[in-house]
Amino acid sequence: GPIAAFEGVSVQYGSVTALDDVTLEIERGEIIGIVGESGAGKSTMLNLLDAATHPTEGRVVIDGTDPQRLSGREIRLLRRRIGMIFQRFNLLGNRTARQNVALPLKLQRTQDPALVAELLDYVGLADRADHYPAQLSGGQQQRVAIARALVTRPGLLLADEPTSSLDTRATEDVLELLAATRRDFGATVVLVTHELDSVAAIADRAAVLEGGVLRSVFPVVRSAARGERDSYL
Ligand code: ADP
Ligand code: ADP
Repeated sequence: GPIAAFEGVSVQYGSVTALDDVTLEIERGEIIGIVGESGAGKSTMLNLLDAATHPTEGRVVIDGTDPQRLSGREIRLLRRRIGMIFQRFNLLGNRTARQNVALPLKLQRTQDPALVAELLDYVGLADRADHYPAQLSGGQQQRVAIARALVTRPGLLLADEPTSSLDTRATEDVLELLAATRRDFGATVVLVTHELDSVAAIADRAAVLEGGVLRSVFPVVRSAARGERDSYL
């Protein structure tokens, strides 16, 4: 079945309807873009997928289970299988790239220095492993954040405006890396953005949100003639 599903989901914050009767299945292994203006409900959808918010009406199912039926401990276990990437990277400024990538493991009272080094190499930052975030460009910081998100081997990667703070070149690097992540790790990627170009570059499908309503869901068609991954960006 799908890795996640929204079944008639509404989310109400007082008098504000953040989501209005949203039904959507997210397929295993796909890259789906969720697009919409500020206030459309995109973050609310991600918060539901991370079990940080619950629906006011309807149901969210993540990997076959409704997080509302899980205990606190079970929710923490579920969250370990979900990676998050943010617009502002959310790295710890007083930790090196290597320490930031290792952090999710450390929080689980475990470590895997070889995996951490391998992921830093994977995102192209082997030679920056002992730099602090302030010594890295925005694009490099986001690549550290992607390595950190991958360190727990998540099946689901949630990216909240991951390129909105980046210049064109760094945006292309990060999008290419997200596409590679699906290919190399088999992760499902949910890409929330107001940038249609980003969705056009890497997503299989786009879901359009407007004022909390899911207006349309459609496949993204890329010209087959353009072929390999570095040419479609
Ligand atoms: P987007 O990510 O597309 O900008 P959000 O999901 O953040 O949209 O917000 C959707 C609507 O819900 C907005 O009107 C926002 O102000 C409101 N909203 C989101 N979270 C909360 C909250 N915790 N409390 C009150 N209103 C909220
Ligand atoms: P964005 O719209 O880019 O997602 P925001 O700064 O609007 O970012 O929201 C950041 C977080 O704050 C969101 O995850 C949302 O849950 C929460 N939020 C948004 N709007 C409100 C609000 N009106 N009241 C309380 N929390 C909110």
